[in-house]
Amino acid sequence: MTEEQPPLDLARPEIGPEEERLVVEVLRSGRLSLGPVLEQFERDCADWLGVDDAIAVSSGTAGLHLGVRALGWGPGDEVVLSPFTFVASANCLLYERVKPVFADIDPVSLNLDPEAAEAAVTDATSGLLPIDIFGQPADLPAFERIAADRGLAILEDSCQALGAIDSEGRKVGSRGNVSTFAFYANKQMSTGEGGMVIPADPAMAEVMRSERNQGRAIDMDWLDHDRLGFNYRMSDVTAAIGVAQVGRLDELLAGRARIACMYLERLAAIEGLELPAPDQDPARRSWFVFPVRLPEGTDRDGVIRRLGEQGIPAKAYLPSIHLFPHLAGFGYREGQFPVAESVAARSMALPFHAGLSGGDIDRVATALGDALAAG
Ligand SMILES: *Cc1c(COP(=O)(O)O)cnc(C)c1O
Repeated sequence: MTEEQPPLDLARPEIGPEEERLVVEVLRSGRLSLGPVLEQFERDCADWLGVDDAIAVSSGTAGLHLGVRALGWGPGDEVVLSPFTFVASANCLLYERVKPVFADIDPVSLNLDPEAAEAAVTDATSGLLPIDIFGQPADLPAFERIAADRGLAILEDSCQALGAIDSEGRKVGSRGNVSTFAFYANKQMSTGEGGMVIPADPAMAEVMRSERNQGRAIDMDWLDHDRLGFNYRMSDVTAAIGVAQVGRLDELLAGRARIACMYLERLAAIEGLELPAPDQDPARRSWFVFPVRLPEGTDRDGVIRRLGEQGIPAKAYLPSIHLFPHLAGFGYREGQFPVAESVAARSMALPFHAGLSGGDIDRVATALGDALAAG
């Protein structure tokens, strides 16, 4: 019976008439790059976050890379981060020959454990790179204390957490650290591809804008370059989508929270299934994906296959990245980060976007319960 139902989407951006209207306006304007819409998108994002400035870039990864450079991290430096993340969190360090030093995660927040992070700090450590995994705010007050004690800088990878509120009631990305957001198609707000980096001060912003644009200063001619730069620009076509999205960001976030709430209710009855931790006031997760953890010893691939047979896409999510082959030179071993590895082995993302109906959620919950009962 369920096989006749159309398949669900794992993720889906919400694009409406305003996005279309603004994109067409840019296309007709003739200003496709470094134009007024890019500036407007930056201003709108900065205003929404409550920060002085925001710099739009071509991806979240580009934003992280500019952040690493802005903090002056380079060869010989070590930076401490969680291995339970998307690979870009570590790759941005590798681009500048910085050593990623992994430390284990907290079993409830699934974010870098401050104690483990502090234990990983050595004389070579230059910084901490907290990630708000699955939109769950990292323990920034703790990391800022460690950073102050040990003379470290902080780069926040908030690419999964636009709209999250931290344990001190502040919007993630607004604490004055260099922070990054991403607008890939599955994020809370999307421009297709894109990112935003929040600079720590105006001088840093100026360098970031130059590095984004091939090392040109704002007042320079097209063929003048006063430093090494990259092409990390976001086009005005892309920025137009962003202007529309940030204009209704509160609504987008509320839509996702509503779906998460339904999932939490419907899945609570499934025995042994671990659900995302509830918020602890004033902290608030920003729902990026809906991750569940299967009981120890469950055949996750089998569960994913059974769900797939019923048109329900699910995905093993996330792996612990310390075991990836391109990081093998650092000598990380299996078993080194037991919490991250156990969570990674048991985690799975369910279909998650604001277009799901109550019926869709019921269908996923029933299928997941059946799949778990079957083995
Ligand atoms: C999405 C994401 C990024 C950036 O991704 P891009 O595809 O480069 O925009 C970085 N870190 C994390 C944790 C992410 O989820």
